[in-house]
Amino acid sequence: MISRIKGTNDIIEDSKIWKWLEEKLKNVALNFGFVETRTPIFEATELFNRSVGNETDIVQKEMYTFEDKGGRSITLRPEGTAPVMRAFIENNLSSKGLPQKLFYCGPMFRYERPQAGRLRQFHQFGVELIGSALPIADAMTILLAIEMLKAIGLDKFKLKINSTGDEKCRPNYVETLKAYYKPFLNDLCDDCKVRYDRNVLRLLDCKKDAKYAENAPKITGYLCDDCKAHFDKLKKYLDEMEIEYEVDPSIVRGLDYYTRTVFEFKYPNLGAQDAIGGGGRYDNLIEELGGSKVPSIGFAFGIERLILALETEKRLPEIEGLDIYVISIDEDQKIEALKIASALSKYFKVDVDVMGRNVKGQFSHASKENTRYTVVIGEEEIKMGLFTLKNMKTGEQWKVKLSEIIKIVSGSGEADTSDA
Ligand code: AMP
Repeated sequence: MISRIKGTNDIIEDSKIWKWLEEKLKNVALNFGFVETRTPIFEATELFNRSVGNETDIVQKEMYTFEDKGGRSITLRPEGTAPVMRAFIENNLSSKGLPQKLFYCGPMFRYERPQAGRLRQFHQFGVELIGSALPIADAMTILLAIEMLKAIGLDKFKLKINSTGDEKCRPNYVETLKAYYKPFLNDLCDDCKVRYDRNVLRLLDCKKDAKYAENAPKITGYLCDDCKAHFDKLKKYLDEMEIEYEVDPSIVRGLDYYTRTVFEFKYPNLGAQDAIGGGGRYDNLIEELGGSKVPSIGFAFGIERLILALETEKRLPEIEGLDIYVISIDEDQKIEALKIASALSKYFKVDVDVMGRNVKGQFSHASKENTRYTVVIGEEEIKMGLFTLKNMKTGEQWKVKLSEIIKIVSGSGEADTSDA
């Protein structure tokens, strides 16, 4: 037997939950005026080297990179923002006016060590608000994320925010941080020893070396006036919207393109992988990818982690079964049952027997599928044009015409059995 690749999942029965979840998230995004984008699953490797950053964990060790038959270096997308910004530039979306409000949903690929809540193919729902440098855009983006979490029934999230400064104030902070960590360099974990030179900010969110991070200088004390004013304004907006948050200087995020605001949503009882989503501002990314300077902000939720959070909260929705199972008494009525099912399928979720089960077997299959109603079709029923409709939950049944079935099952009418 050929097994699936480590760190990937088959979504079969749960696909109904996924569909429900994605629809909910999409509806909130659409109601806030965002438009869906679908970009390719693979891109030129260069896109991620230049955006996510050569020195990040993602580019250093987590990308699925291969050479295609034309000798190009291709990478399965490890995240969604860089591809959407590539598409923004390539399709000249700025000519359509700003802001551009885009969202995406789909698989991402990172060669990480699989564990509960961490996969090599996982899925993200992401949102990008492109074109505004103002803190009100940050407030809107965070509000949108919260509305999405509420829409799916997750209300115990913790929002953590931070500012990572900009190209003016960050270099100074990076030097201060290096000076702070230098005496402990030999005691740091192997990953952090490498990160020290490449990306010292990442030392702050290393779980193994958390004790050093506690006393590390905080970036909030090193922000330049503009970055500080931006961060203060965002906090004021969040206060005014009564959105609870914690300023957490250890939130630095693993990607190089972030500037100023960064944020993360954590959820209780998820174990080590408790970040259900995160994002931030990326004011220079579009310019770095060859576009003009278009400041922007976005975030992404991890779908698998949202589902884990819903599971731990016991908030997974009851997925409804079939509306109608059309039961045929004999072999002779199979095609008539199929035709009636086809007519009803314009309004309802329906099914018919394709396994040759007898009437009893069809009834028990209908119950197993959590069916609301059954319609029984026999020779007599076809002749009279009247069918037995049964409510599987209450046991009530009626002899009715096809049009009545539609009314009753859709809940818009009582059974008219006058000519039954
Ligand atoms: P990031 O793109 O790293 O900011 O991640 C955004 C969100 O995607 C995280 O908060 C997680 O919920 C989710 N995520 C990131 N990496 C993985 C992974 N390897 N497996 C599952 N979910 C992930």
